[in-house]
Amino acid sequence: MTRTVYLNGEYFLENEAKISIFDRGFLMADAVYEVTSVLDGKLIDFKGHANRLNRSLDELDMKNPISYEELLAVHRELIHLNEIDEGLVYLQISRGAPSDRDFVYPNPDETDPTIVLFTQNKPGLANSPSAKKGVKIISIDDERWGRRDIKTVQLLYPSMGKMMAKKVGADDAWMVQDGYVTEGTSNNAYIIKNNKIVTRGLSNDILHGITRAAVLKFAKEAQMQVEERNFTLDEAYEADEAFITSASTFVMPVIEIDGNKIGQGVPGSSSSRLREIYLEESKKLAI
Ligand code: PMP
Repeated sequence: MTRTVYLNGEYFLENEAKISIFDRGFLMADAVYEVTSVLDGKLIDFKGHANRLNRSLDELDMKNPISYEELLAVHRELIHLNEIDEGLVYLQISRGAPSDRDFVYPNPDETDPTIVLFTQNKPGLANSPSAKKGVKIISIDDERWGRRDIKTVQLLYPSMGKMMAKKVGADDAWMVQDGYVTEGTSNNAYIIKNNKIVTRGLSNDILHGITRAAVLKFAKEAQMQVEERNFTLDEAYEADEAFITSASTFVMPVIEIDGNKIGQGVPGSSSSRLREIYLEESKKLAI
């Protein structure tokens, strides 16, 4: 099925949507994005994603070309047109296409942002076999820029990290800075030791995951203990359980880090329970 996508206020077939070669998203990664999951045809954590989008735009002095209501309407229309039951909606806003390449930002009165949305159909997203098997992680140095709290499209290092993992038969990589785990290439990282969930606190060092916020809230409501602090790889190797969170994987158990089995080397009971709680509660709140 040829997808219908959204570009600057209009809907197009995916092969008919065109943007300029001078677009700053293309030339300079001067763009921000969001990914929202869809379950049962409804948007999960939409408000959180819309709020973080505004924050990313503000941090980069970029104009928001679309209101909350319009953005929601476009998401829903794309879900409808592309018949998405389970999947993702990808959204990107760049600073637009000035008439020439220049490091200086174009005048926002003369250059409109470029806004693109498209869907990704992922049947079985909630029931993923990986969640039952768990995933294997390697560690790599965190060599990204210093404003990881802004969700920009400069994803080359995370992409390299994912390839480093694939090359050695693992699924993903956790990044390490000054001896402490920051986060996964496209997810937040957690360990559980003595029934306490440990994850790095919020700062410019990591993306403020929307799934992270929801999962920590649900964990506290379920009387689970949560500690937001830095943790080392050695702590992770010795943990009872480990897991990652993101909009596209929800809560995903980790069973191995750098060849060390975590716990019994199978998805831990608390991680699996958190996945169930997250899916159940966020489906209730889906719009
Ligand atoms: N950290 C990074 C580096 C990410 O790319 C992502 C997902 N885009 C996350 C964390 C998870 O964020 P969210 O739960 O909002 O998807």
